Amino acid sequence: MGKPTAASQRAFQSWGRYPKSTPERIIAVRDRMNLPKLGKDDSTVLAYGQGRSYGDVCLNNGATLLGTSALDRFIDFNKDTGLLRAEAGTTLSDVLSQTIPQGWFLPVSPGTKFVSLGGAIANDIHGKNHHVAGTFGRHVSRFELVRSSGEKLVCSPKENSELFNATIAGLGLTGLITWIELQMKPIESDQIDVITTRFRSLDEFLALSAEANKESPYVVAWIDGLRSEGRGLLMQGDHAPAGPDASLPSFEADQKARISTPFDAPGWLLNPVSIRAFNAAYFRKQTTNIKRDRVHYNPYFYPLDAIRDWNRGYGKRGLLQYQCVVPFDDSNVTVQELLSRIAESGAGSFLAVIKMFGDIPSPGMMSFPRPGITLALDFANKGEKTIQLFHSLDAIVRQAGGAVYPAKDACMSAESFRAYFPRWEEFSIYIDPAFSSSFWRRVTS
Ligand SMILES: Cc1cc2nc3c(=O)[nH]c(=O)nc-3n(C[C@H](O)[C@H](O)[C@H](O)COP(=O)(O)OP(=O)(O)OC[C@H]3O[C@@H](n4cnc5c(N)ncnc54)[C@H](O)[C@@H]3O)c2cc1C
Repeated sequence: MGKPTAASQRAFQSWGRYPKSTPERIIAVRDRMNLPKLGKDDSTVLAYGQGRSYGDVCLNNGATLLGTSALDRFIDFNKDTGLLRAEAGTTLSDVLSQTIPQGWFLPVSPGTKFVSLGGAIANDIHGKNHHVAGTFGRHVSRFELVRSSGEKLVCSPKENSELFNATIAGLGLTGLITWIELQMKPIESDQIDVITTRFRSLDEFLALSAEANKESPYVVAWIDGLRSEGRGLLMQGDHAPAGPDASLPSFEADQKARISTPFDAPGWLLNPVSIRAFNAAYFRKQTTNIKRDRVHYNPYFYPLDAIRDWNRGYGKRGLLQYQCVVPFDDSNVTVQELLSRIAESGAGSFLAVIKMFGDIPSPGMMSFPRPGITLALDFANKGEKTIQLFHSLDAIVRQAGGAVYPAKDACMSAESFRAYFPRWEEFSIYIDPAFSSSFWRRVTS
């Protein structure tokens, strides 16, 4: 507790390392039975999970952050029903290492397992199975929320239900979540059966994706973000059944990241030529139109986790991600327009992902996913040029009635925010008066 050092301030950044933030104070929360007083003085507070949000939703510049990584105890796990109760700072990685040997997987998982349960609720995260499972918040049965008044409230769809709905996708603003109860999903092995299919246009992606959504619980595609026609690889997967070559591990001490990026890569490493070469090689890596594999869940769900601190590969200026969702339209004009705009800009992206969200409402009143096509692309931060590109993409998304994901955002204007999240005023009633964030101040000023 106390004044942060330069090193601890560096540690409490967001994944994109933009915008830079200097918290005035960092309070480590260690004991849920003996919490520090929240909002003691005139500085606002915000919980910080694992800092895997890209932009400023986990930042509170000039004010206080509540570090939750020590709130990492398992409280209860029923191996017959799969109901888990754990402290909110527990990471998905720790959850999996305990529950997989007992035959249970996360009901919804993002593209990294290094996020906390509290962060998963606050952004109401989604995964490759959104079309069948919806968001994370749908699988949360209860959690405890501590308000700055000292009140401890158990929230569920039946108890304190308004705060339950406001806290799921509540951007950490309704108070501190101390523990959560989550319904896990049964599995028979730690392997995933994957079918990868090549596509050469957006129309082809949509047709393949619609079919794959009927057949498989996990569907997502990589798309070449340097070309406007929308070529890519669609990956559909499911948990493999138990058998001679697929079973549950007796106990898996969770796979630690093996390679790391020890220093900031020079900014020039990611240039249009290197990105073009990577994307072309990735597309051609698959020599047949359709390929079938059986792989461990780690490379399937969390390929980037194998390289610790890969974000540092984008250099000191960091990276920005643009993730939006746009409603389905007749000839994919909006997605086509977004891809053309990105290709024209020459900004380029290694990591471009496209997926169809399902029509499965979340309890979270500020939840991002909605029916349509979601597109997510990483860009090296080139300052004003990148920000201007994002504003031009925002204009297309707003016009189409879509939204941008706060967990990934560092740029959206107040005007865009209000258009994307029309329930924001209703939500703001539930914000704890002592809580705030850099994101919230930006989008409501
Ligand atoms: C490689 C990568 C892949 C990703 N893939 C996906 C994806 O597929 N789908 C997806 O939805 N997201 C994805 N994300 C984003 C990530 O899942 C979210 O940003 C998530 O919220 C991060 O959790 P965290 O623990 O790091 O929380 P932080 O980033 O530290 O905080 C996020 C929010 O949670 C709040 N918070 C954290 N803990 C608590 C608590 N105890 N009480 C109250 N509020 C709290 C914070 O105040 C903040 O508002 C990805 C991120 C990365 C880096």
